[in-house]
Amino acid sequence: MHILITGGAGFLGSHLCDYLLEQGHRVTAMDNLLTGNVDNLSHIRSPEFSFIRYDVTNFIYVQDQVDFVMHFASPASPFDYLKFPIHTLKVGAHGTHNALGLAKAKGAKFLLASTSEVYGDPLVHPQPETYWGNVNPIGIRGVYDEAKRFAEAITMAYHRYHGLDTKIVRIFNTFGPRMRVEDGRAVPNFINQAIHNQDITVFGDGSQTRSFGYVSDLVAGLYKLMMSDQNEPVNIGNPQELTVKEMAETIVKLTNSKSKIVYQDLPEDDPKIRQPDISKAKRVLDWEPKVPVREGLEKTIEWFVKHSQRA
Ligand code: UDP
Repeated sequence: MHILITGGAGFLGSHLCDYLLEQGHRVTAMDNLLTGNVDNLSHIRSPEFSFIRYDVTNFIYVQDQVDFVMHFASPASPFDYLKFPIHTLKVGAHGTHNALGLAKAKGAKFLLASTSEVYGDPLVHPQPETYWGNVNPIGIRGVYDEAKRFAEAITMAYHRYHGLDTKIVRIFNTFGPRMRVEDGRAVPNFINQAIHNQDITVFGDGSQTRSFGYVSDLVAGLYKLMMSDQNEPVNIGNPQELTVKEMAETIVKLTNSKSKIVYQDLPEDDPKIRQPDISKAKRVLDWEPKVPVREGLEKTIEWFVKHSQRA
C-alpha cells in the first residue's frame, strides 16, 4: 500500500513510518514541523519513503494514488497545545476534514489518532470505549480534548454518510525514544531532569495516575487496527497504572540519579486518574502490550542519555 501519514515527523508518526516501511509499504510522511522534527526521519534510507513539508490545515493535494491515510498531525503534549491552542483546534478540525477529504477522493482507508483525553477527567475507571467522558469544553485542555472529539465525530460522519472505511484509535500515554525534552510531558521531563541531576518537577502531590505504554506496543496495535474491520474507537494503551510520583521515583532509581523530587502546582483540569480498559483491543485485535514499563523506560533512558551527549 501507499500510506500517507500526517504528523509523520512526530514522535508517534516517525515510529509508524519505520514500522510500515518494515512491513513492505510505501510511506509518505507529511508534517509542518510545528512540533515534529525531520531528525526523527533522518535515519530512513528506503526509496519507498518520502517526506513533504506541509500544513494539513490547508487543502491537501497528493498526485499519486493513496491507499491509506493515517491522521497523526497535532500538537500532543499539554505544554504544546497550551502554547499553540488555535493550531491545535485547527488541525483537529480543518486538518481532519482535509485528511478525510483526501481519503474520500482517493478511495483510501483512514485512521484517526484520537486520545484518552476524550475521556477528560474520567468518572468511570478504567475507561472503556463506551464511556462518553467528562471534558471541560472551556478549560485550558479543551483545545485538545474538543478538537479530538470533533475529529472523532467528523470521522464517524464520513464513515456513515460517505461510506468511508475509517478507524479510530484512542491512544493512552505513550513513551519511548524521540520524545522531545521540550514537549514538557512527564516521562521526557523526568528522564531529562534525572540524567542531569536536576530537581524532578512533580505537579500537585503526585497522586494522580497515568498508565504508560511503550511505543513499540502502540505501533503494533495500530497496525492490527489498520488491518481490522473495526470502524468504532479502540483503546490502545498499557493498563499498568502508576501514580506520577511512582513514575518519578522509578526514573530516579533507573538512572541512579541524585535528583530529588520537588512539588509544583497542578495544572488546571489535570485528570486525576487514567487507565485504559483494553478488553476490546484484546478481543477484536488480539492485541495486548508486551513491554513492561520498566523495560520500556530502560530503553528510553538509554536513548535520552545518548541523545543528550550528542546535543
Ligand atoms: N507532570 C508532572 N511533572 C512534569 C510533567 C507532567 O508531574 O514535569 C504530570 C502532569 O501534571 C500529569 C502527568 O504528569 O498529571 C502526566 O502528564 P503528561 O504531560 O505526561 O501527559 P497527560 O497525561 O497529562 O496528557
